[in-house]
Amino acid sequence: MQNYMEILVNEVFNEVKEKYNICSNKNCENDIKATALNNLPPAYFLSSASEGEKKAFLLDRQRKITVLTKITEAVDIVCSKCEHKKKRG
Ligand SMILES: [Zn+2]
Repeated sequence: MQNYMEILVNEVFNEVKEKYNICSNKNCENDIKATALNNLPPAYFLSSASEGEKKAFLLDRQRKITVLTKITEAVDIVCSKCEHKKKRG
């Protein structure tokens, strides 16, 4: 059983982690993904679902925007007091 929302969170996270300067600490990375996933509905496909349906789920533009929003919220929560975050200014 695979949660496709988890796959999508991983994909979007990898796309934005450098762009948004998300800290690369492994614990933070896990906590950010877990926090985002807790705020997103899980998505499981039935065995009758086609590869096309699964692909369409992962490529849905609006869904990716929603996932990105949850990830950036999670970064704020997880890394607001994170000691690994680079101090600015
Ligand atoms: Zn952090």
